[in-house]
Amino acid sequence: MHELSVTQGILDIAIETAQRGSTELAEVAGARPITAIDLVIGDLSSIVDDSVQFYFDILSKGTLAEGAVLRFRREHATARCGDCGHQFRARPPLLTECPACHSPRLQVTGGKSFLVDSIEVGDA
Ligand SMILES: [Zn+2]
Repeated sequence: MHELSVTQGILDIAIETAQRGSTELAEVAGARPITAIDLVIGDLSSIVDDSVQFYFDILSKGTLAEGAVLRFRREHATARCGDCGHQFRARPPLLTECPACHSPRLQVTGGKSFLVDSIEVGDA
């Protein structure tokens, strides 16, 4: 059920953004419908694309974002060594030591993102 709350968050951000972007026209034309939402998902975020789309279709019914297409962009996981500074692409299962100096002091620096990158709105 993790994706449900996450998807609600995406929807809230997208609608808020669409409404803020069209305030000048709001009285005349109403807020413009959202046609697409670009999302960034880190490899380590454990978010399943299909689940998000599934919940989105349900949650967006009757909102400005109904029928919007979700586009997912993957962010690769990266890690950095706390001892030698070596930075490398990490793939699950994560390494437990630095490939350059074998230090165990690794810090995950990328791949946990889950965010709305941009939205597209159509003509009202
Ligand atoms: Zn190292």
